[in-house]
Amino acid sequence: MTKSAATAALERRRDKLIPHIVRLSEHSWASIAEDVSNVSMIVGSDGIVLIDTGMIPDCAQRTLAKFRAVTSLPIKAIIYTHGHGDHTGGSPVFCAEGSDPQIWARDNFGAEAAPFERAGIMPLFKARGGRQGGFLLPPEKRICNGVAPVRYPKAKGAIFSGKTGAVPPNRFFSGDRMRLSIAGLELELYAAPGETEDALIVWFPAERVLFAGDDIYRSFPNVYPVRGVGKRDIPNWCASLDLMLSLDAEIVVPGHTDPFIGADAAREALTQYREALAYVQEKTVEGMNAGKTPDELVREVRLPEHLAGLELLEEVYGNVAWTVRNIFTSLVGWYDGNPLHLAESFGPTEEARRMAELAGGIEALLERGREALAGGDAAWAALIADHLLAIDDCNASYINLKADALDALAEDMITATGRNYALTVAQQMRAKLK
Ligand SMILES: [Zn+2]
Repeated sequence: MTKSAATAALERRRDKLIPHIVRLSEHSWASIAEDVSNVSMIVGSDGIVLIDTGMIPDCAQRTLAKFRAVTSLPIKAIIYTHGHGDHTGGSPVFCAEGSDPQIWARDNFGAEAAPFERAGIMPLFKARGGRQGGFLLPPEKRICNGVAPVRYPKAKGAIFSGKTGAVPPNRFFSGDRMRLSIAGLELELYAAPGETEDALIVWFPAERVLFAGDDIYRSFPNVYPVRGVGKRDIPNWCASLDLMLSLDAEIVVPGHTDPFIGADAAREALTQYREALAYVQEKTVEGMNAGKTPDELVREVRLPEHLAGLELLEEVYGNVAWTVRNIFTSLVGWYDGNPLHLAESFGPTEEARRMAELAGGIEALLERGREALAGGDAAWAALIADHLLAIDDCNASYINLKADALDALAEDMITATGRNYALTVAQQMRAKLK
């Protein structure tokens, strides 16, 4: 099979996700791509402050070893930029040094997972999170996660459930802004809702370094993760990017991928990120007011040319179409505006039977599906397979057609989480046949 453009793009990303440590400024360092998220360190007069911890204990050990080659001062504080397990799960490794650090977070820490827990939807959330992360796939089927290198958590599904064994925060800040004087350092924490509601940014004014957490990284922002989320508020996210711009940082350290070094590069990245988010929001709302459905809007809303070609906004992790759909449902819920969808439908099995009849029978439908796949029309093949499976979900031919179609679709998906999801479902379908 010839390599798809999507595969080539993800391989280029993988080749940039090489573990290394960067000296950001006189007193600050970042461990990049060692773990699935970045871990940063600021060195004070009598101790150090860490920003995020990564997720995987082995990776946290390696990061700690790199930091210990720089300084032996004790860890006085750890600051969590938000509640996701990929930023907090490495904390036991750092706490095991025994310096009993202050662990800071916003007072709404964990806000994203809380409604899932309240609703009792964690089993679904974990299953979908595992598929999105690609943790059930063999290494040869994973290239990278777009903004993160391939790693395997010990407890599968733990990353998105927050149950990574992270040491919980023991200090919380409320309001918009807080000064933190610690280890001889003067730091400022700002509430900065973006990828998550509980997000904060850390500003180190003496050396003009901004630690941005997941409010920016080198990918189109992940407004909708396919594991599922209710809403990620774009106007709030833009306001946080405005706040970051107002600080006039010399260096911006994202939660994943390489830092933006130099005031011009930092300003440009923050500005383009903000523009992309605001544009997709505006165009979606405009289309909604014109009576368009999500299916129509995903075909229309595209980043403008001057943004679409940027590495910063490549859809390797976040995805414009999924963002459009989520803006729609966040604002008006599931109803797309087509009255047919208000009526009691006759259900997928009956629809499939009628479809088969139109095609000249079930065998003919299966044949059309196989032809579509052979002809490179994987989406049509997958749709036909869905009809066939609605008639008989144990039929090996139907299962194989769908699984093969998903593999082919995945090959053309640049958004790593979607690719992982499709490949995992294909793998899980085939496993049913054994
Ligand atoms: Zn993250």
